[in-house]
Amino acid sequence: MATQEETFKKIVAHCKEYGFVFPSSEIYDGLGAVYDYGQNGVEMKNNIKRYWWEAMTLLHENVVGIDAAIFMHPTTWKASGHVDAFNDPLIDNRDSKKRYRADVLIEDQLGKIEEKINKEVEKARKRFGDSFDEAMFRRTNPRVVEHQEKWNALHERYSKAMNAMDLDELKQIILDEEIVCPISGTRNWTDVRQFNLMFSTEMGSTADGAMKIYLRPETAQGIFVNYLNVQKTGRMKIPFGIAQIGKAFRNEIVARQFVFRMREFEQMEMQFFIKPGTELEWFEHWKQFRLRWHKALGLGDEKYRFHDHEKLAHYANAATDIEFLMPFGFKEVEGIHSRTNFDLSQHAKYSGKKIEYFDPELNQSYTPYVIETSIGVDRMFLSVMCSAYKEEQLEGGDSRVVLSLPPVLAPVKACVMPLVRKDGLPEKAREIMDDLKFDFHTAYDEKDSIGKRYRRQDAIGTPFCITVDHDTLNDNCVTVRYRDTMAQDRVPIADLRRMIGEAVDMKSLLQSLAK
Ligand code: ATP
Repeated sequence: MATQEETFKKIVAHCKEYGFVFPSSEIYDGLGAVYDYGQNGVEMKNNIKRYWWEAMTLLHENVVGIDAAIFMHPTTWKASGHVDAFNDPLIDNRDSKKRYRADVLIEDQLGKIEEKINKEVEKARKRFGDSFDEAMFRRTNPRVVEHQEKWNALHERYSKAMNAMDLDELKQIILDEEIVCPISGTRNWTDVRQFNLMFSTEMGSTADGAMKIYLRPETAQGIFVNYLNVQKTGRMKIPFGIAQIGKAFRNEIVARQFVFRMREFEQMEMQFFIKPGTELEWFEHWKQFRLRWHKALGLGDEKYRFHDHEKLAHYANAATDIEFLMPFGFKEVEGIHSRTNFDLSQHAKYSGKKIEYFDPELNQSYTPYVIETSIGVDRMFLSVMCSAYKEEQLEGGDSRVVLSLPPVLAPVKACVMPLVRKDGLPEKAREIMDDLKFDFHTAYDEKDSIGKRYRRQDAIGTPFCITVDHDTLNDNCVTVRYRDTMAQDRVPIADLRRMIGEAVDMKSLLQSLAK
């Protein structure tokens, strides 16, 4: 059995070999934590984006979209707090010269203690079988209690230090916990320093005074600064939402885990503007809707969990992450935040404009509160990829790699193949493809044996292979081979569109969400 780490390496290699994701500017040895999507990756990514966009804007008549620029007036980032506070605490190991996020080192330490507790629990579960009372065991087992107390104490100390951004204390925790650098194995640490994650550049020529501007670190601010524009021109009534998909940039210190943490990535964000006092209700509503959106893809309900934030930003009054079980553990894919009226009030203050909503029912004006849902396209892509990647042993000692992608997200929906490259079969296959291509992304393949062609399509997750043989010319039927079961059926050409459509249709997925 391959370890999780080996599996993840294989997934990364597979993404490159089959045209999903390439390292950026690879001929120059790549650029750290920047990636390009290839011919199959871009199709899948577009399908993910379409699923999100349609679920937000088609299913909710009070949610509309925008597409704001990446460059924004620099005061935006003063108002949002990013210039002063979008920092990570970093620390270097003097021996390995490696740089780490101090908070991540401590969180990993907390994770290790948690792991010890979980191991004890799992051991006991095996020992006691059906009669096992986990809650009782966690309360009373001396070893678990000891670990738990250690975890609580460390967690409290860490939260306090983070809330106060006490850099000396963060370093002291690392020293007291005897955390070593995973590369050098030493505790030769520098002091902890603050590091701003925003990329900056200059707009205009230096002669007439260039202006320092930032590449947006989140898409949300483009929505906030357009709140009034959309509300007025769209005659929107509260509650209403504004959705946006776009690039964001962060100079991540520790960029690891492939497209999980990139320096240039893509977000799908929605800000939902509401009446103050209704935020917890709406928070719960969006939390549930967003989880249903994820689960509807059928990657496995057990792979998701909520992780409620204990440490809230000073302006937030509720926050949770939707985490997905990646090969490297449960990790955040989406954040749902109740942000009060912080952002709109800040923009009102910095711009001097009145940013409010006149509520005709209350006959009064107020600054709306906001519930935000924020998901990374790339992390979503990775979660789909990780759950789809399978190595299967087949009868007769053969094996295959198959991507069991949700058909609606698969880059290619069907591949049409003539059994041989003669006798009019290629022409017939082209005819079928030319008919299907207006509805579905369809491929054509006539090279190598049918078996090899099937494997190529399995590796990119194509749900249907359609083989044209000599009988097709007489009976107008083809052999359809299904990706997951490898079963084959004889199907009339006239039925192909309906059959493929039913399996890959976005509409039925959206309908399942609308119920
Ligand atoms: P993390 O704690 O992992 O750095 P975050 O809490 O800073 O993430 P948010 O600011 O809430 O993330 O951003 C919303 C979403 O954007 C995240 O849930 C994630 O899917 C995505 N995202 C954030 N940073 C990155 C990144 N560097 N690379 C890829 N996706 C990212």
